[in-house]
Amino acid sequence: MIHYSCDLCKREFDPDDDLRYVVKIEVFAAYDPNAGAEDDEDRDHLQEIQDILESMEDAEDERIGDDVYQQMRFDLCPECRRKFLKNPLAREMPAKAFGFSSN
Ligand SMILES: [Zn+2]
Repeated sequence: MIHYSCDLCKREFDPDDDLRYVVKIEVFAAYDPNAGAEDDEDRDHLQEIQDILESMEDAEDERIGDDVYQQMRFDLCPECRRKFLKNPLAREMPAKAFGFSSN
């Protein structure tokens, strides 16, 4: 039997008791179809994207890798899910944000 634990706080889930949340993150290089092609608006952008995706597949095991596309998956407990949703990019909270919601 598989035991899961929260990827943030490392707490083990109780399979009978705990909700487990899965966070999937995709990070990929943005492709801007307008970059450098301002006077060329009739081009078939969908085809271009298709071409790029195909060339990515061709190069799957080679040079193009983590720089272009990464997928991550995390298991979170309800508590950590709440924290994650509040601050998904783990930004530094401004100091003044503390103490506001305590009452
Ligand atoms: Zn947790």
